[in-house]
Amino acid sequence: MVVLKFGGTSVGSAVRIEEVASLINTSEQKIVVLSAMSGTTNSLVEIANYLYKKNNDSANEAILILEEHYIKVINQLFSTHEFKEKGIELIQSHFIYIKSFTQDMFTLFEEKAILAQGELISTALLHYYLSEKNIDSVLIPALNFMRTDKDGEPDLFYIKENITREITKNENCNIFITQGFICRNAFGEIDNLKRGGSDYSAALIGVACNANEIQIWTDIDGMHNNDPRYVENTKPLANLSFDEAAELAYFGAKILHPASVQPCKIANISVRLKNTMQPSAPGTLISSKSAGEGIKSIAAKDSITAIKIKSGRMLLAHGFMRKVFEIFETYKTSIDMITTSEVAVSVTIDDTKYLNDIIDELKKYGTVEVDQNLSIICVVGDFIAESKGYAFKVMEALKNISIRMISYGGSRHNVSLLVNTSDKKEALNALHQNLFNNV
Ligand code: ADP
Ligand code: ASP
Ligand code: MG
Repeated sequence: MVVLKFGGTSVGSAVRIEEVASLINTSEQKIVVLSAMSGTTNSLVEIANYLYKKNNDSANEAILILEEHYIKVINQLFSTHEFKEKGIELIQSHFIYIKSFTQDMFTLFEEKAILAQGELISTALLHYYLSEKNIDSVLIPALNFMRTDKDGEPDLFYIKENITREITKNENCNIFITQGFICRNAFGEIDNLKRGGSDYSAALIGVACNANEIQIWTDIDGMHNNDPRYVENTKPLANLSFDEAAELAYFGAKILHPASVQPCKIANISVRLKNTMQPSAPGTLISSKSAGEGIKSIAAKDSITAIKIKSGRMLLAHGFMRKVFEIFETYKTSIDMITTSEVAVSVTIDDTKYLNDIIDELKKYGTVEVDQNLSIICVVGDFIAESKGYAFKVMEALKNISIRMISYGGSRHNVSLLVNTSDKKEALNALHQNLFNNV
């Protein structure tokens, strides 16, 4: 069994859906995980925002635009009258459902139900398209097996048991299609794995089915050595270790959802990043094998908040750090970077939902300073203990940029630096020049 996940751009038009159909039409048994067509989840978020504000006119306008877009896709995708009709009926039923929320109370529950429609539509369209072409496939609803527990973490036991049941019902089928991103929570309500979560779905499905490989098909030929949205002439990497890929995904390489590598590492299932627009390109293989020593890639994570707690009296006292960390734990807020000095400790967080409560509690232990609009720049590779000069090269590249925090030595895989987001692009480019172009 292999798992193939196709992202928004890869299913973004009728032509792209046809291309996916031809890529998956092989004799190997596979589970195909789809995102919503590109732009759809953003439109659904926009619609949900209008509905929250009780702005039904704008919601209806946005719903109509999206529905018309899908009707066009149907007319391009299907060639027979029968399937065009089936397609239109499908779209109408989903949009009647979306429109029903303009009359009701609108809460987080309804928002999640609206956001799920994108993946439900894209998977149904591929399933119909294959059926029109007489290619057998089975649609397995993610809402029947993808589930999170009361802490919002995937319930792997439930996922494994239920996806296995769905697959054994149709053991002879080669192509199983399912939705990425969407799930049910511990109460059985529709939920999702956060934006970009289809990669995470694919990883969890791969682990649950003990797949031979998980393939993430996207719009670029693998993990590049820097963020192509900010830096020109970036290059794809042929291999990465799980640890390196996990650091890059966590610290902002958008090609992979931040949580998607860990489950694959634990189950030792390789992840291959492939380009749907250029299927013959080798892409990137992420596996347990070391990809060799040295600096591999640079990523950046935005919307970072730094919190500094100054406490000359207490910092070195036993238990001070524990008290500080407990506060973050109480508010389920994870810390990305930590630095300490004799009189202060600084940490960074990206989830600011409980920032005010955290600050109030920290104030019991010292003075608290908060800085926002920061980015973590993460230089990732394999820096073995004996090797010299990596940190120097990084710092040398950033000589003209003010650095708020540095973290090195936490693992042998990253050097992280905290900068103002306004300096991020310059920092990424300066690092690229010094680390990859000067050699
Ligand atoms: P999908 O819709 O297929 O999930 P995403 O837009 O989520 O695709 O991820 C692919 C995008 O990730 C690329 O188009 C690229 O702009 C961005 N990206 C950011 N950092 C990297 C990187 N280091 N390597 C490759 N792509 C990256
Ligand atoms: N459709 C969802 C999103 O746009 C999930 C995904 O694409 O991975 O965030
Ligand atoms: Mg994505």
